[in-house]
Amino acid sequence: MTRDAATAVIKAILSEKDFLNDLDAKIGDGDHGLNMVRGATAASDALNELNGDENAKNVLQAVGNAVIMNVGGSAGSLYGAGLLAAAEILDENAVLNAKTLENVFSAAVNEIQRRGQAKLGDKTLLDVLIPIRDTFKAENCVGKSFETLLTEARDAARDGLELTKSLIAKKGRAAAFGKDSIGFEDPGAASALIIFRALCGFWKDSRRF
Ligand SMILES: [Mg+2]
Repeated sequence: MTRDAATAVIKAILSEKDFLNDLDAKIGDGDHGLNMVRGATAASDALNELNGDENAKNVLQAVGNAVIMNVGGSAGSLYGAGLLAAAEILDENAVLNAKTLENVFSAAVNEIQRRGQAKLGDKTLLDVLIPIRDTFKAENCVGKSFETLLTEARDAARDGLELTKSLIAKKGRAAAFGKDSIGFEDPGAASALIIFRALCGFWKDSRRF
């Protein structure tokens, strides 16, 4: 992820703060937007200190560390750990293609699952991240352009978020709501979709990672 891609994500998060707070207020403590903005602001500061040493690995590492150090709660540690795991598997010359995205999202998903002990269907951000990852698996990519795959991944992410409405929360504060969590989207899944949409928009225009 280049600095410009990160900047597109940061901008999207800042503009969705109230939406994410409102979602979290329904099945949590109403601070998810605030937490994400805190992370985005810290990420922006960290990127300003990168001094031109810019490649996907460095940018993901800087953003991951900034998020871990500045964002409280499960969102901070899970997103931060996912970003660092993604940075870990990239090398300095990573190029933007389906294989790279499968690897990046696999690394993030595996680390988030390891830490959060959540699985698909638990009404978490994984309900958006796993469908994105699956879209980029080799068997799904045959004969499709990269642009088509981005559209499919974005649609799968949107469907994943929509599906969280029908699920009972199994993790985090929302789990205390039990069946009352049905009918509401998971805030973490919603922020994951916002992030991915911003990335897709950037990637389609720029063709750069
Ligand atoms: Mg919260």
